[in-house]
Amino acid sequence: MNLHEYQGKELLSSFGVRIQRGIVAQNADEAVAAAKKLTEDTGTGWHVIKAQVHAGGRGKGGGVKLAKNLEEVKTIAGEIIGMDLVTPQTSAEGKRVHQVLVAEDVYYPTDGGETSEFYVSVLLNRGTGRNMIMYSTEGGMDIETVAEQTPELIFTEEVDPAVGLLPFQARRVAFNLKLSGLAFKEMTKFVTALYKAYVESDSSLFEINPVLKTSDDKIMAVDAKVSIDDNALYRRKELAALRDLREESAIEVEAGELGLNYVDLDGNVGCMVNGAGLAMATMDLIKQAGGEPANFLDVGGTADAARVEAAFHIILKDPAVKAILINIFGGIVRCDRVAQGVIDAYKNMGTINVPIIVRLQGTNADIAKKLIDGSGLDVMSATEFQEAADKVQQVLAV
Ligand code: GDP
Ligand code: MN
Repeated sequence: MNLHEYQGKELLSSFGVRIQRGIVAQNADEAVAAAKKLTEDTGTGWHVIKAQVHAGGRGKGGGVKLAKNLEEVKTIAGEIIGMDLVTPQTSAEGKRVHQVLVAEDVYYPTDGGETSEFYVSVLLNRGTGRNMIMYSTEGGMDIETVAEQTPELIFTEEVDPAVGLLPFQARRVAFNLKLSGLAFKEMTKFVTALYKAYVESDSSLFEINPVLKTSDDKIMAVDAKVSIDDNALYRRKELAALRDLREESAIEVEAGELGLNYVDLDGNVGCMVNGAGLAMATMDLIKQAGGEPANFLDVGGTADAARVEAAFHIILKDPAVKAILINIFGGIVRCDRVAQGVIDAYKNMGTINVPIIVRLQGTNADIAKKLIDGSGLDVMSATEFQEAADKVQQVLAV
């Protein structure tokens, strides 16, 4: 589960990680009030107005802007709230902005020193099964670009889970980032607190880009991308409550409520499958047949009429769907029961305007095929994988 930047920063701050301070606002007037409050608390005269959406690259899309007085705070916040922000990480339609973070300008030179930007992330290295800190002197840029063009500027520090992040490791980070004096000390504190926050919040990714060295040598998080491990949300109720459903696909949210494992994709063939492995294989099959999967949908172990109907309902919400392939392996759940479920669901739904291909294999597959073929419904049956693929190809050709 992803957090908004402002939520991520609050989380970091609660673990003692220094952050660029800010106040979230839902409209232009709130933004002005937030800016006034920040000026009282921090002395800042300039503010940055930052769109709060779950997508990176907001700066490039015009979602992060500097305001030099309250009038500018008001106009900029007014422009950003309500806009459909398009960034390199969103679709072409963009993401609707519902709120902005009004933050203190931390790039403002206070005493003649220089600012510099770094990249710091914490994530799991799946190869070694250990958490690691990944960091670079090249802050504020796409880390993918840095990895491609100057991979030698990316460093990693792996953490032994038995002992945690050791002080010498935090110092090595500061050393590799070429810091000295106060900034060096600040960076070791920053990294230590950041790692603690990562572990103790059950996060799966922290990406802080940029981490800023201010002109007076403080180290702080200017941006915060925080993902919490979904499997830990049951014991992180206060974090689970931060979920913003407006940021998620409406169909995916509804499917989740129905207990279906559904991921929205861009293709034209809807799939309904039991088991994630079979769902993956089915998506390959659809591609081979010349189609593109419209979704990933795992109905799970109990493919009864109610679940099949719920799955139909979800798949048909996607207007791009031109055909539906149901591919179910009947192990514990017998194929004839699934077939009856498909027939009942079809009848309950009234009209379904796209061709349906049902492939049932496993226990009682033959009885299931007879049920489908004898139902009088506009449903094609198949028992072999290839046969199902051919039928998908056939219906897409018309
Ligand atoms: P992203 O584009 O979604 O990654 O959003 P960021 O939070 O990283 O902000 C984008 C860019 O805005 C940063 O790389 C900074 O260069 C700039 N920025 C952020 N905060 C400030 C600030 O306080 N003052 C100034 N002048 N620029 C800022
Ligand atoms: Mn950023």
